[in-house]
Amino acid sequence: MSGGKARSSPASGQGGATADRSAAQHESTSELAAGPGKSIWQYAPAPESRDVVSIQPEYGLFVAGTFAPAADGRTFATVNPATEEPLAQVAAAGPADVDAAVTAARTAYEQVWKSMPGSERAKYLYRIARQLQERAREFAVLESLDNGKPIKESRDVDIPLAAAHFFYYAGWADKLAYAGFGPDPGPLGVAGQVIPWNFPLLMAAWKLAPALAAGNTCVLKPAETTPLTALLLAEVCQQAGLPPGVVNVLTGAGDTGAALVSHPGVNKVAFTGSTEVGKEIARAVAGTDKKLTLELGGKAANIVFDDAPVEQAVEGIVNGIFFNQGHVCCAGSRLLVQESVADIVVERLQRRLATLRLGDPLDKNTDIGAINSRQQLDKITELTKVGEAEGAQRWSPPCQLPEKGYWFPPTVFTGVSQSHRIAREEIFGPVLSVLTFRTPDEAVAKANNTPYGLSAGIWTDKGSRILWLAQKLRAGVVWANTYNRFDPASPFGGYQESGYGREGGRHGLAAYLNV
Ligand code: NDP
Repeated sequence: MSGGKARSSPASGQGGATADRSAAQHESTSELAAGPGKSIWQYAPAPESRDVVSIQPEYGLFVAGTFAPAADGRTFATVNPATEEPLAQVAAAGPADVDAAVTAARTAYEQVWKSMPGSERAKYLYRIARQLQERAREFAVLESLDNGKPIKESRDVDIPLAAAHFFYYAGWADKLAYAGFGPDPGPLGVAGQVIPWNFPLLMAAWKLAPALAAGNTCVLKPAETTPLTALLLAEVCQQAGLPPGVVNVLTGAGDTGAALVSHPGVNKVAFTGSTEVGKEIARAVAGTDKKLTLELGGKAANIVFDDAPVEQAVEGIVNGIFFNQGHVCCAGSRLLVQESVADIVVERLQRRLATLRLGDPLDKNTDIGAINSRQQLDKITELTKVGEAEGAQRWSPPCQLPEKGYWFPPTVFTGVSQSHRIAREEIFGPVLSVLTFRTPDEAVAKANNTPYGLSAGIWTDKGSRILWLAQKLRAGVVWANTYNRFDPASPFGGYQESGYGREGGRHGLAAYLNV
């Protein structure tokens, strides 16, 4: 595994036993990756230029179509997690700012947006979508700087999908009467939307596009650690000539989100984030007439049968858990592999992981970027230590972590049992827990043995088995012979502790209509 500037062995700081094990495995893993007697390919650096973005030293809140400091002047720093370099100071919205943003959204709703014909609303959404495409490189670089994700993911996944959501919902804006919700479904009013840091722009698009298409106005609260692309999106809204107050962006921490969701002027609350905060929000809106959708955590099973094509399945496992450093609510964090092929699958997986490149998120060759924050790194480190203490076997490929920033090597735990915390809790990092099963029924029982229910993956050659299993899995999204595929036309959402309501597709409109 290649990296940037050398720091240490992959497991340093994570327990001597692991460091020893990794060092001992270095040679054999290198050989595994490259073939006997051959050395691993080295890639020349291919950095994307930072010049395409101009980051301002300070950012205000976007309320009623203009940027302004917080009423009490509070700010916070947003940092590049790959270098710990401060990128900008950002306004921290307090209760007065929340009130001003909700008032601006209400005024825009009553005076302009709710009565505007859908075909006119659509034009603004198309403009925003086209601007996202035109400024895609700028958005991608900014996202990678603020979030730490590899540029090839922000460039090829986050930004194109965000634009696709605006295009898709623009198409619905004048066809709501044909969406199957009655002849004249109306909007709800002001939507308060709180989003996490793992897909900052994409989550903003998931929230804003259907809400605006349905005729609602919005107050969006991005995560504290990743506010910059939401603020650039606000600039795009200005550029698109969106009437002031239709979209408002309030940067801040959890208290800003809490003030927003409990504001009496909000009619609809949409949240993506941890189950813990989701429950708090559900309590805050209980007893009000606010409509609520929650997209929360997950602990998805990625199930590999003995008839699956192994190399394809390995790619799916890697994509399932190491995409976006595992900061994915639907990540395939529990690998359930049929016992008869477990050894070969794990061996091929280890060989594949040894070829992944960890390092500079702006390098186009990078596969694994930085962990988004110190706090998240601490959480991943703690849970992996628990995994070892509970008796699971930990493995990471040899890799050098950069000197500065927040980094965690791809990690695989074998010998995991269902009672282990690493098999039950959302780690939200590049950590895979491997469990085995013998029969399809056992696979179903183990896959469903979780308080979550967001997603699952099935790898098998038999179509009939896919259909049988998909019916039995308690998961909102089931991928067959693929993983982490997203499309704006597909509904997405979970059961149980993964939340309720659906985003995406026609179903996603229902959350923003009075139906
Ligand atoms: P949170 O759920 O705390 O954050 C999500 C969003 O909610 C952020 O914008 C956050 O603001 C905001 N928020 C925090 N507290 C409140 C509140 N009381 N009322 C309203 N909004 C609030 O996730 P964290 O970033 O703290 O991550 C913690 C853990 O959650 C992770 O380790 C991971 O396991 C899980 N997680 C899961 C996600 C998923 O999609 N399944 C996404 C993100 C995290 P701010 O960030 O500014 O504090």
